[in-house]
Amino acid sequence: MIELSDDKFFYAFDKTLEPALTVASGETVRIRTKDCFGNQIQTPEDKLDNIDWDAINPATGPIFVEGAVAGGALQVKIEQIEFDAQTSMCVGEDEGTCGDRFNAWSTKLAPVTETGVVWNDKLTLPLRPMIGVIGVAPAGEPVNCGTPGSHGGNMDNTAITAGATLYFPVSAEGALFGCGDMHSAMGDGEIGVSGAETAGYATVTLTALPELALKNPVMENDTHFITIASAETVDEACSIAVHDMLDIICARTGAPEDEITMLLSLVADLRICQIVDPEKTVRYEMPKYALEAYGFKFSSR
Ligand code: CA
Ligand code: ZN
Repeated sequence: MIELSDDKFFYAFDKTLEPALTVASGETVRIRTKDCFGNQIQTPEDKLDNIDWDAINPATGPIFVEGAVAGGALQVKIEQIEFDAQTSMCVGEDEGTCGDRFNAWSTKLAPVTETGVVWNDKLTLPLRPMIGVIGVAPAGEPVNCGTPGSHGGNMDNTAITAGATLYFPVSAEGALFGCGDMHSAMGDGEIGVSGAETAGYATVTLTALPELALKNPVMENDTHFITIASAETVDEACSIAVHDMLDIICARTGAPEDEITMLLSLVADLRICQIVDPEKTVRYEMPKYALEAYGFKFSSR
């Protein structure tokens, strides 16, 4: 397995970046990732008022994947997520859903053990490992790692965990993949503006799929096929995610749109990823049992 240290990182997904690493399609890479604060919050004295805000949301990479071409897709299988032994989190004035309640930043540190995030001596939260920032270079201008979009980025999607497989639309040769901002715990919505921000290692298998055309990221796990959309409002993101799902299913099965819309309405779940970033992200989860009845299989996974 190839290892990639966090010495090489970037603050914006950008098709003009020099690759930190070049791999063959199908290679597995264990990637060291900094937390979303750039590892600047290590002691209770480290306050968000004092950190370097230009060093927020670093993504490790970019990784050039041989065979990935503009107009195709990059498949990213999440093999494993490993965490350091401490996590940090924050709330602050005008940040997140409850920013109206605060007039200063607060931070909290917590130990991360094999079993969970130690909140206090009475409560340990179950681990809910996920990768917050993950994506490829966008087609146009660089996109800051704090902003999600059709290239991926800061989607803060709790379904992006070990065992999941993502597919990103590729806009630059080699895809220029990167990831960071892992969370050892986070609720859907990320309402406080941070998850349990934790440095660690993400192990991923990167495969070029030059024949697969996509508009937005999609993913699958053992039970669901999932579309993901980011937009200025949650309403707008929901509309994109649902239409993408309808288009993909109808194109691949030949089934009529009215029938599939009724089916989606009965069995698929719209879920919020995050409502605190510059664009909001939602996902739309269609159970595989219903898709299999139509002979729909997204990949050979
Ligand atoms: Ca994030
Ligand atoms: Zn984060």
